[in-house]
Amino acid sequence: MPDKLSPEQRNRCMASIRSKDTKPEMLVRRYLFARGFRYRVNVKRLPGTPDIVLRKYRTVIFINGCFWHGHEDCRYFVLPKTNTSFWKAKINRNRERDMQKRIQLRLLGWHTIILWECQLKPKQREMTLKGLERTLNQIYLENYSLHKARPYTPMEEERGDMIAAEGDAGEL
Ligand SMILES: [Zn+2]
Repeated sequence: MPDKLSPEQRNRCMASIRSKDTKPEMLVRRYLFARGFRYRVNVKRLPGTPDIVLRKYRTVIFINGCFWHGHEDCRYFVLPKTNTSFWKAKINRNRERDMQKRIQLRLLGWHTIILWECQLKPKQREMTLKGLERTLNQIYLENYSLHKARPYTPMEEERGDMIAAEGDAGEL
């Protein structure tokens, strides 16, 4: 069957697929999935709509852009030279909101892990992802020793809204 796209169109198409796949969230999702973790993505029912939710670990993950979320002492967080006070106020509001969501999640019994975009750039990526896996395993062990008598049971009403990640057939 002849290719309907011109070589230029084909290149554009492939480029857009590649850039979608290298989004920081996708890196984290693919790594976790390959390592056997199962999760839901963009869970609207939890405060802040976490990017990744690992129910078994009572853990949510946010992948934060360094600028919008104001990553302290990060070279990717530089306030623009114009309208500086506007941007400063805006980023501070975002930070405040992030903190509130984190507190709400904690009150609901969830651990929150923040991954910054700069930590997922090629040089740091492997270390960050391995560190994430270690942290999740630590959390699991802590949860397990704290709630030995209470086996893990998913709650139906929480499962309703959850959106399965593409290609993720695993249960949560
Ligand atoms: Zn950063």
